[in-house]
Amino acid sequence: MERVGLYPGTFDPLTHGHLDIVRRGLKLVDRLVIGVATNPSKSPMFSLQERVEMITRETSPITAEMGGTIDVRSFDKLLMHFAGDVGAQIIIRGLRAVSDFEYEFQMAGMNDVINPNIETVFLMADASYQAIASRLVKEIAIYGGDITSFVPEAVAREIAKKVTD
Ligand code: ADP
Repeated sequence: MERVGLYPGTFDPLTHGHLDIVRRGLKLVDRLVIGVATNPSKSPMFSLQERVEMITRETSPITAEMGGTIDVRSFDKLLMHFAGDVGAQIIIRGLRAVSDFEYEFQMAGMNDVINPNIETVFLMADASYQAIASRLVKEIAIYGGDITSFVPEAVAREIAKKVTD
């Protein structure tokens, strides 16, 4: 049976932290679906289509290097329903500091009630990427700071363009 994992998030924008989780997640499954959430409540800097394109482009070298399959898909429904649609047996989430824990703990617990057949797996990024948060990357960029160590080069250019537009 094909092992399918779903890594959901907003990815606004995609960071080195996300990419590190993608690499680790891909080791656990045959096919990793990256689910890009619409999340209008977060007023994203990048449109859904821009985020899907950015992730597709930045993850293609990963499958070229590691094998396996990555599918980048947008979704606008309950996570567990989307997980069922794509045939995922596991949900992959990244865990940073204590601050992520409370929210992730509640979400994993409630998702387990909605669909007990799907396990949530938490992965930690490499220590050098753990502090990276999309929200802070945007804030730093808006105030003219250097974000090149947090996101891929092309993403840094796209953010710079958004900020100056
Ligand atoms: P969401 O709105 O679902 O939190 P994000 O794009 O902020 O979307 O994050 C998606 C997932 O990636 C979450 O599980 C988050 O904890 C994880 N993540 C984000 N940045 C990092 C990082 N630097 N290290 C590890 N996990 C991360």
